[in-house]
Parts: sequence; structure tokens; C-alpha cells
Amino acid sequence: MSRIRGRDTKPETLVRQRLFAAGWRFRVCDRRFPGRPDVVVVRARTLIDVRGCFWHRHGCADATMPKSNVAFWMEKWSKNVRRDRRNEEAWRKEGWNLIVVWGCALDRQKRERTLLRICGALDVWAAEVAAGTKRRRPHRLELPRLP
Ligand SMILES: [Zn+2]
Repeated sequence: MSRIRGRDTKPETLVRQRLFAAGWRFRVCDRRFPGRPDVVVVRARTLIDVRGCFWHRHGCADATMPKSNVAFWMEKWSKNVRRDRRNEEAWRKEGWNLIVVWGCALDRQKRERTLLRICGALDVWAAEVAAGTKRRRPHRLELPRLP
């Protein structure tokens, strides 16, 4: 990952900076939610979870396989993935929309498009909240979603 991003700003910081510049106000790592999601946008009833591709096993090229200690890593990853799933279930059960942003979606070439999509989703979902629209299930957007 660092191979690609170098000394870039941290992924979650990129997202926060852009949201703030676009006028969104939000909470950061809110303890009231299991797993402390990176960003909580109350006005759009949305949580944003920024996930490192290596640690959380996105199936992309950044989710590399280490040469040694494979058993150790497998154990660690499966814990991370299970925890992500558990947190996500809890958030959704409470009716929170979710945007999962994988680290690779914030690589230089993809970053702008990703940030625009996040802001676009928040606009639409905040309008729903304002209108009191009832949904059977909250929205879920994953960037990028692998096939
Ligand atoms: Zn990825």
C-alpha cells in the first residue's frame, strides 16, 4: 500500500478534508458506535468506514500475500474481516447508511472520482433524511466494489 501511496495523507484524512470543504459536518471515530467508524455524518444518517486493503483483505492488488508467517497473517485477517462484518451488521440494524471506502479507491488516479461519489451519495441520502423517507434497509455503497 505504502508502495503506491508513498508519503500521502492518510486515506481517512483525505475523506474528511474533502467532506469538510464541501460543507459537511461530521463526527470522527464516534465511540457510541461499535468499531468507531471513521466518519459519522448525522445529517445523511451515514457512517463512512475507510478500510486498508491489506489489513481488511480487499481482493485487489494491494491485498498482497506476505512471504512468511502466513498462518499469523491469516488469523489476523480473518479476525479483522469478521469484526468488520459484525460492526457493519450492528450499524445497519440501527438504520445507518454505510459507505465503505477501500484504500485503493483513494489512490491518486481514482481519488477525485471516489470523493465525488461519496459527496453525491451524501447529498441524496441527506435529502431522504430531510424528507423523512422511510427505507426498509439502509443504503450501502462500497468503493470500489470488486466483482
Ligand atoms: Zn483495494
